[in-house]
Amino acid sequence: MLGEGILKGMAETARNFFGSYFSADRMTTVEYPEQRIAAYEAARVFPFLVYDSKNPEDAADWEAGMRCVACQICEKECPPKCIYIEKSTDKKPDALGKPQFYPTRFDIDISVCMSCQICVEVCPFEAIKMDTEFELSTDDRFGGLLLDRKQLAKSNEYYHQIHLTEANGVDARLAAEKAKAEAKAKAAAGAAAAKATSVAAATAGEGA
Ligand code: SF4
Ligand code: SF4
Repeated sequence: MLGEGILKGMAETARNFFGSYFSADRMTTVEYPEQRIAAYEAARVFPFLVYDSKNPEDAADWEAGMRCVACQICEKECPPKCIYIEKSTDKKPDALGKPQFYPTRFDIDISVCMSCQICVEVCPFEAIKMDTEFELSTDDRFGGLLLDRKQLAKSNEYYHQIHLTEANGVDARLAAEKAKAEAKAKAAAGAAAAKATSVAAATAGEGA
């Protein structure tokens, strides 16, 4: 029947409107900002940079534990080009203990960002994720919406608070990668030690 969908929608609206006087379940709105609905796990607003907390007492904790290695893949792939990265000249250990470059500058212009999440999908280091924070309005439409790396840095604990299922999966993957890298390093060290022993034995044999 023509208009059946509209009538069904109107009936649902009416059911919620009148029902809200009798049942809290039918109250589909809240009086924001006094009342707030907790963000859903699937909510996505703007990106943030994840850091692994090493020493929460240290004011530079966010910087020391930052997962980003300044590979600049996200900067290249961001469709509206609103990520600006400058790579360090020195290296520091990443989440797996491997020396890596890090960003001396990492800015995102959230007045341009379209929340597409492509930066998250292309990052090989689980270093950038989507935040659920949306109250970011400011009267400074230029500098106020250009977030720097310190403003973007949020701990892995925070990531767990907002996207628990996803963060648990990332932790498991990083732990597996770390175990694999450690096993590989151990095997390489064992092989090098065995080679050194056989060379020393051969040298001793020649000398005898
Ligand atoms: S969410 Fe999309 S637009 Fe925003 S910074 Fe990431 S890639 Fe760029
Ligand atoms: S956030 Fe990820 S993709 Fe972007 S520069 Fe850092 S490590 Fe590379």
